[in-house]
Amino acid sequence: MTKTHPSQPARVRFAPSPTGLTHLGSARTALYNFLIAQQTGGSFILRIEDTDQKRYDPNAEADLTNSLKWLGLDWDEGPGVAGPHAPYHQSQRMGIYRQHAEDLVSAGKAFYCFCTPQQLEQDRKQQQERKEQPHYAGRCRELPLAEARARVAAGETHVIRFKAPKEGSITVVDRLRGEITVENRNIDDRVLLKSDGHALYHLAAMVDDHLMGITHVFRGEEWLPSLPLHAHIYEAFGWPQPEWVHLSVFLKPSGKGKMSKRDTEQMRLSGQSIFVKDLAAMGYLPEAVLNWIALMGWSYDDRTEFFALADLVEKFDIDKLNPSPSAIDFKKLDHFNGLHIRALSVEDLATRLLPYFAAAGYQVSVEQLLPIVPLIQTRMTTLDEAPELAGFFFKEEVSAQADTLIGQGLDVAQSAAAMRRAIEIIQGLAEFNTASLEEPMRAAAEELGLKAGQFFGMLRNAVTAQQVSPPLFESMELVGRETVLTRLRAAVEKLES
Ligand code: GLU
Repeated sequence: MTKTHPSQPARVRFAPSPTGLTHLGSARTALYNFLIAQQTGGSFILRIEDTDQKRYDPNAEADLTNSLKWLGLDWDEGPGVAGPHAPYHQSQRMGIYRQHAEDLVSAGKAFYCFCTPQQLEQDRKQQQERKEQPHYAGRCRELPLAEARARVAAGETHVIRFKAPKEGSITVVDRLRGEITVENRNIDDRVLLKSDGHALYHLAAMVDDHLMGITHVFRGEEWLPSLPLHAHIYEAFGWPQPEWVHLSVFLKPSGKGKMSKRDTEQMRLSGQSIFVKDLAAMGYLPEAVLNWIALMGWSYDDRTEFFALADLVEKFDIDKLNPSPSAIDFKKLDHFNGLHIRALSVEDLATRLLPYFAAAGYQVSVEQLLPIVPLIQTRMTTLDEAPELAGFFFKEEVSAQADTLIGQGLDVAQSAAAMRRAIEIIQGLAEFNTASLEEPMRAAAEELGLKAGQFFGMLRNAVTAQQVSPPLFESMELVGRETVLTRLRAAVEKLES
């Protein structure tokens, strides 16, 4: 086992299968790879494992590259950037895999198998009856190579299987879990190359990881049971093994079990999602998503929670990865989103809000948003809340529900009188701004025998027609004296009609 010193440039790869939308689990694997590459001055490689035609989803790759770009996890080699080991799509590397499979056959480490699906099915049934784990029964394992080659040359349908050693045991090392020892007789003669010439993961990924000089393999825990087989394949080729790092799985928010396809769909219906694309549309910041997923399986200490990507690059440490599963917690995502929204500059936040205002039907510019952003920056959890909070600034007219204009515990006439008083005060102010409004308005509340909250609540509804808004006087200042007066007068009219 070669240990890679962390300061040596790491070559790491994210190797997704394009079978669906990019989810949190993939994003986290990509992130950890990216961090190690950045931290060591190494390379982050994107490899598309598209050998399984049945599960191939033609939209998945665009979603994947868009998701990685949105997260800011740019790859050094891979689709769109090329690199010394191109092509980076496995579907374009089939010749390489066949050659390697044939090499293993020649070396006596793999064999041609001519068993028919019916024979294999029968074997499986018999094994079931004997209460054995299903495994390849070994029928073609010891065929003389010359005979097997003659059958292949004659065009007989065949696959290539790995000839797993049957004696003794193998010890593999997972960086998070330490040594794992397995009896070789429990390792199956798995298919490496299918009868249609397509390589399977067990061959394609090992060959590519070796040829691409991969130093650390970060992959999901679901691959841990295959690790002994993979270690044998490396040994059969005579290659040194990479560091194996099997990442913990994500559990449902309830903590009870892994997310199923059905859970994922139901989650989407209820307005939550594990897909990167959805989180972007919902108004989460890439910084917050990265912060959140970084800590689902890794921690720096038990206090620090805010990490920008640069902090993660500096502080990430493989040996602090946690092998236990982690439940998806959307409340934490909201929390991180709030933190990262507040950490943005006003200009940056204004720019990021533009598409949300546009989607809500407001044509606004960054310049128009600049004075408003400071009023809403601390009040947002997701970016899509901004138009709900600040839409009233951009409306020609607002139309508050009549009943919201009636102060709590007041009748219509009292409410209209209170509005009139506010209008008088505003007309009489030498200057119209937050500071000049505050005092006379508080005094008016007292004069009218109202609590400040009662009075200001009515005014808020009249000026914004929203139950929730930024602070009243700041809002009024930005809306401007004339518009405020118009809206207050409209409120009086509404109350009196
Ligand atoms: N294509 C495999 C998957 O998506 C990759 C596993 C690996 O990273 O080796 O599960």
